[in-house]
Amino acid sequence: MKPFSRLQRQIFAMVTSLAFVTIALISLCIAMILYSQGVQNAESVLRNKNRFISTQILGYVEPLRTALLFASSHDVGIDHSRFNDDETRQKILGVFEILQNAIPNINYIFAGYEDGSLLINNYTPPDDFNAVNRPWYQVAIERHPDISDGLPYQEIISKEWMVSFGKTLVDSENNIIGVMSIDASMNAIVDALTTRDEQYPTIYHYVLNNEGHVLIHPDETLPDTLHYQVMSLLTETSDTSGKLHYQDGNHRRMAYFTKVEALGWIIVTEVDIRDIRRPILDIIFSTLTLVILGSLLTTWMMSFVLSRYLITPLQKLRRRVQEIVEGKDESRYIFPNNEIGMISEAIETLTEKALIVKNKELNEKNVLLKTLSHTDQLTSIANRRKMMEVLHTEIAQYKRYQLPFSALMFDIDYFKRINDTHGHEVGDQVLVQLAQVVTSTLRETDTLGRWGGEEFLLICPQTDIHNAKVIADKIFKAIQAHDFPCQLKVSISLGLSEFTDIHSLESLLIEIDKKMYKAKQAGRNRIQVH
Ligand code: GH3
Ligand code: MG
Ligand code: MG
Repeated sequence: MKPFSRLQRQIFAMVTSLAFVTIALISLCIAMILYSQGVQNAESVLRNKNRFISTQILGYVEPLRTALLFASSHDVGIDHSRFNDDETRQKILGVFEILQNAIPNINYIFAGYEDGSLLINNYTPPDDFNAVNRPWYQVAIERHPDISDGLPYQEIISKEWMVSFGKTLVDSENNIIGVMSIDASMNAIVDALTTRDEQYPTIYHYVLNNEGHVLIHPDETLPDTLHYQVMSLLTETSDTSGKLHYQDGNHRRMAYFTKVEALGWIIVTEVDIRDIRRPILDIIFSTLTLVILGSLLTTWMMSFVLSRYLITPLQKLRRRVQEIVEGKDESRYIFPNNEIGMISEAIETLTEKALIVKNKELNEKNVLLKTLSHTDQLTSIANRRKMMEVLHTEIAQYKRYQLPFSALMFDIDYFKRINDTHGHEVGDQVLVQLAQVVTSTLRETDTLGRWGGEEFLLICPQTDIHNAKVIADKIFKAIQAHDFPCQLKVSISLGLSEFTDIHSLESLLIEIDKKMYKAKQAGRNRIQVH
């Protein structure tokens, strides 16, 4: 993969962190909304289930209670005080049969009397049977004159859930003479209670009585006392239905209850909170995963687009400018048709223009530098460095093409005296004018240079020793003819040689220096050829 540029990395980091903050905030909001909606949804499911079960129970037992009220009342036209009378007994049993046929849920309908006798269809009680001692009888007496609370029980043999209601029977003076009771199967109700919910599997229903004892519960193993907690919460509220929260061991539970006053029953529908949270958290997790993935994709695409339209042209420009600076002019980039592209093109043009100007300046400076490095500051003729270069070139030319050249070295006679007598400045002027005078006698191809203080070297290409002598004479004449400052008479001593195969650069210089010295010795103001 291509390495990220800094700007690219910065933009990526910036966009990513901004996106993350936004994603985090959005996710938080989404999570909160989903959570509260999920909880509300679960609560409404719970409430509706509780109402449904309560209505179902009430709808189931209400006809039983009405039947009992009707059958035990005087309106039926039966005088229960005459329960020993055969005709009365037949009448009562007839009513029982009609009711049993009308309401199929009724398993047994019977009456017990204060003498302990029992009146029932299709059942013969054991010999020692005494109705007065039966719980249903006693409960009904306790609840007189109301119908006793529904008393659910599980039949020992069939395990069938039953419910029993009892109502006292009175004579014309309202004295209790017995109890009429209805037993009905509660299987349909228990089935409804035990049906598991698919969405919230821990939802279950149970029925408590006003003392907090579990009357009907799908889980037989559940101890009666477990729901004291629920009961204590229930006694705190006067509402007939509502919501409860409680802790059941390690489980936090939420419940809805409905009090059915007529039955003395409280129908509770509870659910483990984890059951509610799990689907909500699943939805939150998948929604957030989608949101995060979507946002990351957007971020990636954004930085891709930004790179394409912003960074790539800038990188191209940087490379282009670098190329221009390095003097390469190989590639031409097409910049995008936007502000960045326009700026890039402008910078490219500007850089090119600036570079042309700089190059011109540089060339001029180089020329100047070259001139300065080859020129003697005082006399403006070639300096010693330049003379060495010329010598090298000439020797090379000689060696390659046998082109002859001569070298002449001369030194001003008694120059010290000029300085001493007229001052250093006059000495300088003499040096300058001498250089000019000598130069004026020379061909363009000859090179005159200042070799040392008042010592000069002249290189004459394509000049043999004879021609060199001619040149030397011309120089002498010109010096003689020139008016130097302070009417000074200036003379020079000169040694000259033609370069030959026996020479090297050094030996040539030594030789002409020696000849010049010889000229001095011989009395100065002369040319030493040999
Ligand atoms: P000779 O005939 O033996 O050459 O005698 P001379 O006095 O010319 O020789 P010497 O080498 O003794 O003196 C050279 C003098 O040239 C010494 C120095 O002060 C002077 N000189 C060297 N360079 C310059 C310069 O640039 N300007 C001036 N004004 N004087 C210079
Ligand atoms: Mg000298
Ligand atoms: Mg001298």
